[in-house]
Amino acid sequence: MQTNFTLAQLADPDIQEANDILRACVHCGFCTATCPTYVTLGDELDSPRGRIYQIKDMLENEKPAPAKVVKHIDRCLSCLSCMTTCPSGVHYMHLVDHARAYIEETHTRSLKDRFLREVLGAVLPNRILLRLALVGAWIAKPLGPLLGLIDKRFAAMLKLAPGAPPKPSPVDTPQVFPATGPAKLRVALLNGCAQPVLQPHVNEATVRLLTRLGVEVPNATVMVILDADRFGIAQLHQLRGRVGRGEHASTCWLVTQAGEEGATNPRIDALVSTTDGFELAEVDLDLRGEGTRMSTAQKGRSDLKLASLRRDRKLVELAREAAFEIVGTDPDLSGNPGLADELDLIFSDRDEEFLTRS
Ligand code: SF4
Ligand code: SF4
Repeated sequence: MQTNFTLAQLADPDIQEANDILRACVHCGFCTATCPTYVTLGDELDSPRGRIYQIKDMLENEKPAPAKVVKHIDRCLSCLSCMTTCPSGVHYMHLVDHARAYIEETHTRSLKDRFLREVLGAVLPNRILLRLALVGAWIAKPLGPLLGLIDKRFAAMLKLAPGAPPKPSPVDTPQVFPATGPAKLRVALLNGCAQPVLQPHVNEATVRLLTRLGVEVPNATVMVILDADRFGIAQLHQLRGRVGRGEHASTCWLVTQAGEEGATNPRIDALVSTTDGFELAEVDLDLRGEGTRMSTAQKGRSDLKLASLRRDRKLVELAREAAFEIVGTDPDLSGNPGLADELDLIFSDRDEEFLTRS
């Protein structure tokens, strides 16, 4: 697909990445046949190819995301079945993520939309709130057509809600399910957040099947990670989340060398001190190092002489905005000869190549 981004736009690594993805699309339309929203609605704008065109138009013209485009991007389920069909290897996943970030930046959703999103974000990952919401939906089900007059989405959600909320499954409590006959294997069942509330029969069936096949199934509320020193902060945080999302108290043991003969591991200390993923990401960056801007190292010592991306983040953001502003009105810096000279002195062609990489 031909794209028409300006050089100034391409200086933004996100746009550069979107440009590469867009250019890989050959408009063949193979993806439309496997897209559930296109198959259901029959509208090209609700197909992967249609969305790709809309994203291209929105990004190229740098316009605030129009409500019509927002509607079609919102309808994308992120099921990514289009990616498995695409013969051209279009990374739709990153493109639609970028479009969503752009929409959040440039489009103001209605108060009703924002309220609905906040409520869903709070309710869906919380089993207690989700159960209460299902009871509420069950009671309000007959009012569906009436609520549909306020917003069609309320009626649709009530229609989707199960008739009577499924009872909490006995399978979800911490216990060990013995294998039928001598146990050949052991498989831990890790509970998620929404599925045990909405479809408890899935875990019940899993336990039935495994135990019949001679597998012992402990319903895990405890996780032990051996040699935790060998894992990164992000991996460990993800792993412990597998037992941390259920409604029962859970424990994750990190078995390390830390503590022996006074040795400590700052990654493990950070994990123990907080469960906040954002804080852990910051600590991780501190410990791993920023890596280089003009080379390929993604960790270790920074190649910046004075600045630190972490310490001077605000300053870096301001400098970036100022740079975009200058290049936006004067792409070849003909009106800023002093600045052009300075940049020529500092940056080699190879450096420039790294600067524009995503
Ligand atoms: S299948 Fe791939 S190349 Fe073809 S239209 Fe869809 S995204 Fe583009
Ligand atoms: S990710 Fe979106 S565009 Fe791709 S198949 Fe799923 S719903 Fe369709």
